[in-house]
Amino acid sequence: MTALRKRCRCRDWRCDHWWFADFRVRGRRYRIPLKTANKNLAAQLATVERNSLLKARYGIFQQPDVAFSAFAKDYLKDHVAVNTRPGTLAREQEIVKTLTRVFGSTRSRRIVSSNTSVTASPGDGGLTARFPQASP
Ligand SMILES: [Zn+2]
Repeated sequence: MTALRKRCRCRDWRCDHWWFADFRVRGRRYRIPLKTANKNLAAQLATVERNSLLKARYGIFQQPDVAFSAFAKDYLKDHVAVNTRPGTLAREQEIVKTLTRVFGSTRSRRIVSSNTSVTASPGDGGLTARFPQASP
């Protein structure tokens, strides 16, 4: 989960100091200054920061040539578990389990996100997996 924190010691959290996003990605802790004292805005910025960090640093959606089973495991752990509700996680786990039975050892060439549903299909020389995009 992404937490919002202040680093100052003011008694009232509505002070004019900046909010910081505080979260973990694969065991690493990140504290990002959000450059605003507005809590609602900070919460939105924190979500954006975290998502772009996941995409940029770990290539969640564009991991080349990784076995589908390995990708699916990371997808559930780093993406679904942190970005969606518990009910969604349970549903995704079931779907991924089924897909892994079929595509487990297939190398994934292209993994893309979509807003529809979880599907996977063998394409030219590789697998294309489609996962729903997380809604914050
Ligand atoms: Zn303060």
